[in-house]
Amino acid sequence: MHDGHRHNDSHGRDHGHGTVRDLAPSVGAAAQGAQGGEGGEGGEGGETITLEQKVLAKNEDLAARNRSWLAERGIVAVNMMSSPGAGKTTLLERTIRDLNGRGRPIAVIEGDQETMLDAERISGAGGAVVQVNTGAGCHLDAEMVRGALTALAPETGSLILVENVGNLVCPALFDLGEGGRAVIISVTEGTDKPLKYPYMFAVADLVIINKIDLLPYVDFDSDQCEKYARSINPDLQVLKVSATTGEGMTDWYDWLGGRY
Ligand code: MG
Ligand code: ZN
Repeated sequence: MHDGHRHNDSHGRDHGHGTVRDLAPSVGAAAQGAQGGEGGEGGEGGETITLEQKVLAKNEDLAARNRSWLAERGIVAVNMMSSPGAGKTTLLERTIRDLNGRGRPIAVIEGDQETMLDAERISGAGGAVVQVNTGAGCHLDAEMVRGALTALAPETGSLILVENVGNLVCPALFDLGEGGRAVIISVTEGTDKPLKYPYMFAVADLVIINKIDLLPYVDFDSDQCEKYARSINPDLQVLKVSATTGEGMTDWYDWLGGRY
């Protein structure tokens, strides 16, 4: 439905200029080299930032429209964000199997660069689903979600779970008009993820630490991770779950219930 190419304007260049932190001369040289690669395209910071601001301002308008469209229909949408492989789709499959037919109708918007694979999994679990392929794009934006909502035509009072493109960076910048934001991290990632990707944790309402069934086999400190996340955003709720075994999933369902 959407090829998403239009939004690539916001990512052909950097989001502003990065800071090169010099650990050692060789690292500094490598980083400078990488930056030089984009210099010809982005030019000096001013132009890049103006373009970025325009893209984000347009997105804010469309997100506000999505938000009223959803509110008029009593629909709640939750934006689910994570790195690739944190278990978003598995979490959604289990959520649909457990909640479908009990209370609100549930529908899913799947965001991936390519393939219908995740949409097929959701459909297999019994959920109504629309897949958005972003092509080279690295996040969903409000316009893509608007198109997906039109295609999905969700019932009044639905719960819509939006699986964003696997990426902890720019999805934090793009409001979709959602009523809640969840970040999923898994115990196979680093405990310090919240410190490395603070923007994502700053805009989130909920952190789901997934794959806790693997804790005995990995070097991950969930309490420390929770502390890091709260140091960035004291209002964050943190849940620990295993979408595979089902442990902790009722806490997630209670959180969703609170959004209704
Ligand atoms: Mg997925
Ligand atoms: Zn992006």
